[in-house]
Amino acid sequence: VHPTAVRRPNSILVQSDNTRYTEEHITAKFHNRSSVVDVSNGHLTITPTVQAYEFQTKRTVGKTGLMMIGMGGNNGSTLCATILANRHNITWHTKTGIQQPNYIGSVLRASTVRIGTEAGTGKEVHVPISDVLPMVHPNDLVLGGWDISGLTMDKAMERARVLDWDLQRQVAPHMALLGKPLPSIYYPDFIAANQEARADNLIPGADKQAHLDHIRADIRKFRADHSLDRCVIFWTANTERYSDIIPGVNDTADNLLAAIRVSHSEISPSTLFAVAAILEGEPFVNGAPQNTFVPGVIELAERHHSFIGGDDLKSGQTKLKSVLAEFLVNAGIKPLSIASYNHLGNNDGHNLSAAAQFKSKEISKSSVVDDMVDANRLLYNPPLVGPKGVATGKGEHPDHIVVIKYVPAVGDSKRAIDEYYSEIFCGGRSTINIFNECEDSLLATPLILDLTILTELLSRVRYRKVESSETKFAPLYPILSLLSYMLKAPLVKPGTEVVNSLNRQRNALETFLKACIGLEGSSDLLLETRIW
Ligand code: NAD
Repeated sequence: VHPTAVRRPNSILVQSDNTRYTEEHITAKFHNRSSVVDVSNGHLTITPTVQAYEFQTKRTVGKTGLMMIGMGGNNGSTLCATILANRHNITWHTKTGIQQPNYIGSVLRASTVRIGTEAGTGKEVHVPISDVLPMVHPNDLVLGGWDISGLTMDKAMERARVLDWDLQRQVAPHMALLGKPLPSIYYPDFIAANQEARADNLIPGADKQAHLDHIRADIRKFRADHSLDRCVIFWTANTERYSDIIPGVNDTADNLLAAIRVSHSEISPSTLFAVAAILEGEPFVNGAPQNTFVPGVIELAERHHSFIGGDDLKSGQTKLKSVLAEFLVNAGIKPLSIASYNHLGNNDGHNLSAAAQFKSKEISKSSVVDDMVDANRLLYNPPLVGPKGVATGKGEHPDHIVVIKYVPAVGDSKRAIDEYYSEIFCGGRSTINIFNECEDSLLATPLILDLTILTELLSRVRYRKVESSETKFAPLYPILSLLSYMLKAPLVKPGTEVVNSLNRQRNALETFLKACIGLEGSSDLLLETRIW
């Protein structure tokens, strides 16, 4: 039984002239402080800037659906089973004792933010991130989706071999009620040939416009059947090969829609799903590395003010890399090479053993240290400047390789080996080797939840510049780069820079959530502890 739309009680209340609570909204004033740097005179002239904004967050958390593409895969089935275990409070026996269901690994449900200091004692007060603003509880998500494999969800969970048997045994009847995923679209050219054997649950035909219409009808039906206010569409299906960007085909929104009408061969299933979500006004998140968001999709999302986020879940090796590379570079140490090896034995690994699909993953894993290197030109030479004053190339960069191998025996337990080889003081060398073994789907599932919950929240936040009271509140920009913390290759507004640093990504998220309730400037400066 799912509750209908709920207005969650605020567990925190901000008392300030900057924050207003009404039945419907929390409205908060925020001063966006920055600085503009003029580099034209050979020295830097810096002008601090400040712009006042208001954020308005709808307090009612609507009934929210999550439709996954690839619902019957390891991530999809693990997500459904763990939500059902939490919802029905199923405990299970493992060899070490009785295990309770939980949401460990979810930034929103299992981590906290510092919200201030306690009156009187001066002790720091931390609250769960999920308490900062009204958010949907994962237990309340209505689950559904598509898969090219027609196994029922209880059997799909069994095939995934992720969860302990005693949990599977108890959650299986609940999983069986989810039935079998909706039939999906399968263009064999986009995923590895070794996936063909599971493709037995397909929308017939090869007409891409008919496929798009079919998916749109599926979304509308799911929304109506469950009386949803919001339905997040989430790609957790196989990694596809990259689509070629072809002028006249997928470079603009109109060309893309026209190319779908004539079933152009370069339109991938994931792009069709993204277009379907956008046209239905529902958010679309891409949890895999391929370039679903061809320029035409981005333009379409802008045109329809429909939210999109991606790409590729940042679960294990890359998350660690974005922390470690930043630590080294910020410590003034110069990584010369980063060599990353993975082997895994689940179906994702099987699919990635094909060259074109591996390429998508390689690209998504590769750029993760770029911004840290660019930020420190003391250590790394900048790009050469060409005759017209235009920078050429990326400049000096650590060597960086990524290898992924399929080793069926290790199943979902991915092993990642990374070597960081760095230059230290006066010609010295330092080598850090990390061996990291993780249960892939148990790391990825909480990220899918965080992305879904945040996306739903961000779709309820509007903003305006405080210039005159006439200025209308507007939705956020369609590309939700605030989701970057959970994504390996964050999609950002065209023309803006990608931030890969995990710390900066988290800071941005925290700052934004706090800004929405009118808390600004609660930084780590802790000035009161530094002065008399
Ligand atoms: P999986 O292979 O177990 O599941 C993918 C599912 O997608 C399969 O059930 C397959 O039948 C289905 N599928 C393929 N094409 C489809 C289509 N066109 N329509 C509908 N369903 C389709 O893989 P997984 O381990 O669940 O991972 C899912 C995705 O998430 C992969 O692309 C993977 O690269 C990405 N990812 C996973 C992790 C992780 O840690 N698990 C991290 C980052 C990214």
